[in-house]
Amino acid sequence: MLEIKSCPRCLGDLLTNRDMYGDYKQCLQCGFLRDLEPPVKPITLRSYAPESEKESDAA
Ligand SMILES: [Zn+2]
Repeated sequence: MLEIKSCPRCLGDLLTNRDMYGDYKQCLQCGFLRDLEPPVKPITLRSYAPESEKESDAA
């Protein structure tokens, strides 16, 4: 799901994504992350580039 101009930081496009912590939205322009569910750990400072967006099921 892509939300156009929904980023609170740069008004960029937010892409809904999911990782081991749950669903989150990531800005394609500035990398801003917003968790959609309460995280188990404080992970709001995570940051990685959209180019490295790879699923990893390795435990
Ligand atoms: Zn942004």
